[in-house]
Amino acid sequence: MAEVPESVVIVGGGLAGAKTAEALRERGYEGPVTLLAAEDELPYERPPLSKGYLMGKDEFDKAVVHPQEWYAEHDVDLRLGTEVTAIDRDAHEVELGDGTRVPYGVLVLATGSEPRALDIPGAKPLTLRTHADADRIKATFGEGKRLLVVGGGWIGLEVAAAAREAGTDVTLVEGAEQPLLGVLGPEMGKVFADLHREHGVDLRLGSTDLSGIEADAVLVGVGVRPRTELAEAAGLEVDNGVLVDSSLRTSDPDIYAVGDIANHDHPVLGRRIRVEHWATALNQPAAAAAAILGEDAAYDRLPYFFSDQYDLGMEYVGHATREDTARVVVRGDVDKREFVAFWLDDQDRILAAMNVNVWDVPDEVRPLIVDRTVVDPDKLADPDTAYSDVGR
Ligand SMILES: Cc1cc2nc3c(=O)[nH]c(=O)nc-3n(C[C@H](O)[C@H](O)[C@H](O)COP(=O)(O)OP(=O)(O)OC[C@H]3O[C@@H](n4cnc5c(N)ncnc54)[C@H](O)[C@@H]3O)c2cc1C
Repeated sequence: MAEVPESVVIVGGGLAGAKTAEALRERGYEGPVTLLAAEDELPYERPPLSKGYLMGKDEFDKAVVHPQEWYAEHDVDLRLGTEVTAIDRDAHEVELGDGTRVPYGVLVLATGSEPRALDIPGAKPLTLRTHADADRIKATFGEGKRLLVVGGGWIGLEVAAAAREAGTDVTLVEGAEQPLLGVLGPEMGKVFADLHREHGVDLRLGSTDLSGIEADAVLVGVGVRPRTELAEAAGLEVDNGVLVDSSLRTSDPDIYAVGDIANHDHPVLGRRIRVEHWATALNQPAAAAAAILGEDAAYDRLPYFFSDQYDLGMEYVGHATREDTARVVVRGDVDKREFVAFWLDDQDRILAAMNVNVWDVPDEVRPLIVDRTVVDPDKLADPDTAYSDVGR
């Protein structure tokens, strides 16, 4: 069994960073835990920034992971407004913006992502990642105001929905033939296209031409980039995120990575995957903490995410690439937007499932995905057949 580290330093005060501190204490680690966070705010969850908070329905406080006193009560040295500028692996120290150094026994990288930028001549495009970004975007909403959204991914669509609910005129431009095409494919992408058109969004698909679009503000949602500069400069293996093994350890056994930046060797999926979603940032830290404390731990949860737009709520579990998908089977009513979609491979095994406005599905479907159950597509499509009976 590995030795318990003398101290743990966590870089990045987002959900994954805060949850790592929590998991270490929950597992009884008694050594020093330091959480170095570039933002000036207590670690918070980002999903509300494009949903309840952006719509003015939820208070920001609801998004905070732990109140201030939690850190003192759990003896976590939370340093806000503190950017780590370098990792010195030989000395086992990190360097801060002011030149001071902090020693570590084990280092956990949880530096997350940042929005990809897009240069739009004549405009000062907004992006959405932080609390302040959400406030700036919210200030552009209202009757008579015009918002141009560039990008039909989750962020672009959720901001479009929030803006429409505030009465804003919204034009959304997406280069692909459907929104969310890369994640959901054409059939399910169309569900979201129809949803937004019905709610009055001027949706322009298959085009990146922004000329002639009148707007008071522009929101760019064209994806994020993992913040891997520190890891790269320190010589860790980086390729679309920081490469980690099944227990979230990097190519340096004393350095771990969790959340958006971790390109993880997933034991169930049998491939590397980097997931830019809330549930990964929430759950990976427990596995990392266990491994840090010498347990034989692997992170094996399937990817999961959710979205809310207007009156549509959805969850997605699993991982279906377009290359692996042979067909999509639907159980329920797509026109009413009450259904479950399943992505199947060429052996009729479920790769992923998305439930739209029907609930309690992921827990039922997860075992079918993990066990690689060969299903009968007709039974799967039949809402009266229990999930336990859909096997061939
Ligand atoms: C608006 C929005 C809505 C979202 N909605 C959903 C959703 O509905 N469902 C879903 O599943 N996922 C959603 N996500 C994705 C989810 O929020 C992310 O996957 C999650 O935030 C990742 O957490 P993280 O801790 O890995 O990274 P982050 O949340 O990015 O946190 C990383 C932190 O590290 C800090 N940092 C970076 N570099 C340094 C450094 N050198 N020194 C110190 N600190 C540093 C950053 O400032 C940041 O605070 C949404 C994301 C956004 C932005």
